[in-house]
Amino acid sequence: MKLKRGAWIAPALAVIGGSLLVEAVWRGTAWTLLGVASGLLLGLAFRWSRHDTLSDTDAFDLPHTLDLLRRAHDARVGWAIGLAQGPVEVVGDAVQEEQGAEARRRGAAFVQLASVDGRVHVAHEIEGTYVATGDFPYGTALLLSGRDADQRRVTAAVNDLRRLIDTMRHAEQHATPGQGQLVARQLALGVAGAQTLAGIARAGAELAQQLGQRGAAVVIRSVRERDAIHIIAVSTAADKRLTGRRLDPEAPVARAIQGGIPLVTTGAEDVFGPGMPERRRHERGGAVYPLLDGRSVIGALVLVGQRAPAGDRIASLVAELGPRLAAAKAVHDAEQRAVLDPLTGLRNRGEFERVLAGYRAREQTLPASLIYVDLDHFKRLNDTLGHPAGDAALKHIARVLEEAMREGDLVARIGGEEFAVWLPHAQLGEAWEVAERIRDSVANTTWHWSGTAYPLTTSCGVASYPEPIAELLNLPAAADAALYRAKELGRNRVEKAARSY
Ligand code: GH3
Ligand code: MG
Ligand code: MG
Repeated sequence: MKLKRGAWIAPALAVIGGSLLVEAVWRGTAWTLLGVASGLLLGLAFRWSRHDTLSDTDAFDLPHTLDLLRRAHDARVGWAIGLAQGPVEVVGDAVQEEQGAEARRRGAAFVQLASVDGRVHVAHEIEGTYVATGDFPYGTALLLSGRDADQRRVTAAVNDLRRLIDTMRHAEQHATPGQGQLVARQLALGVAGAQTLAGIARAGAELAQQLGQRGAAVVIRSVRERDAIHIIAVSTAADKRLTGRRLDPEAPVARAIQGGIPLVTTGAEDVFGPGMPERRRHERGGAVYPLLDGRSVIGALVLVGQRAPAGDRIASLVAELGPRLAAAKAVHDAEQRAVLDPLTGLRNRGEFERVLAGYRAREQTLPASLIYVDLDHFKRLNDTLGHPAGDAALKHIARVLEEAMREGDLVARIGGEEFAVWLPHAQLGEAWEVAERIRDSVANTTWHWSGTAYPLTTSCGVASYPEPIAELLNLPAAADAALYRAKELGRNRVEKAARSY
């Protein structure tokens, strides 16, 4: 059977929500676009997602049924229109390209006409005998081989075409509750009140695992850095180590998200791209479904494994999960914006102060330390290279600081080129080592701007509670005084707070 691709790939993509950058994906070497070589998945997703509305006729698969009809009546082409999925056209192998195009155009016109006027149309032409019938909004037609198809053949074809229309109508009328609603209900149950982005993603991954019979992951575009893509949830059968990983921009998943197109990977390539934990070969492949909110791609659902999944309810889940995740992500993003510095993605000053106040409010007696970090002669850099260069340098410093940090620590940008590192439970000696490591890595990693390396240095002030600073409240002032001294003493150095506070 040869389905005319244009007839169903477009609706299939509409269902999955792709935005048709087919060529873009073909450029990727090891991937197979789901639409063609493994036309299976899109086709299935399309057909099965239509089973949302064809739920009580599981055997009803319009392209397949139409093609059976086509063959049964020795027809060269078959058409069906009127279902929400859009027109379907099946083409036999024997149709020549040039003649075929003309035949398809004419047949499409006949089926349109029949769908509107509800009558039987028969036309004997050089390319064969067109037979079309309709019942608004449905229409079906066949191009019987041979221009002189006799009355018996025509009548038999008309009868079958009418039955097909009845089936189409019946299928759409008995559409509820469809699979889409079923999946929506399952997802709602799985989410069970979880309103966080991670909670919903987790529920989506679990349901995908249940429906697809294999591990699944949900991947999201980050608000922190534009276009950074992270795995935010994995199902129980997927590799736990994937959680939280940031994907390489060249990873198949990342490319699918950029292009908004579903894809499968085959071969040894990791669907999550380079830098992922080592996994067995069959666990490195996967099928990627972009998750959409309206027209924008917010992430992807990934089914792990080499086989193309049996599409059906996965497509419904994808359609359901996108908007839900988007809503949760909007809330999440707003919350993040309130606590993050937009330039560097570090915590902002307000969040830093809240955390410190929270620590004080709990009347902690455990030690804690604070490091202030300030770029040296940053004004000079801004003045000579310009503000964008200054911003890039600040981002560079932010990454160095993040690398120095451990779980439970907090790094914030508290001023233009001033940063704070909050180390709960760390004593002075330990904090001093962290500060020294930060100073050292800034001074010894080169920062490039427009292809040229520029030296950057920082000065740090360290203060610790309860030794030598007995009052938690005084820590910021003590760290600031220490920083001031580091500047006085020549910069690119770390100073500790004195006991005087
Ligand atoms: P010092 O070694 O004494 O710290 O010298 P400095 O030039 O770094 O110190 P100063 O505090 O006098 O100057 C800070 C400069 O940082 C002023 C401004 O040019 C720059 N700056 C502050 N905020 C930003 C920002 O958000 N982006 C950029 N590009 N530059 C900033
Ligand atoms: Mg400075
Ligand atoms: Mg400063």
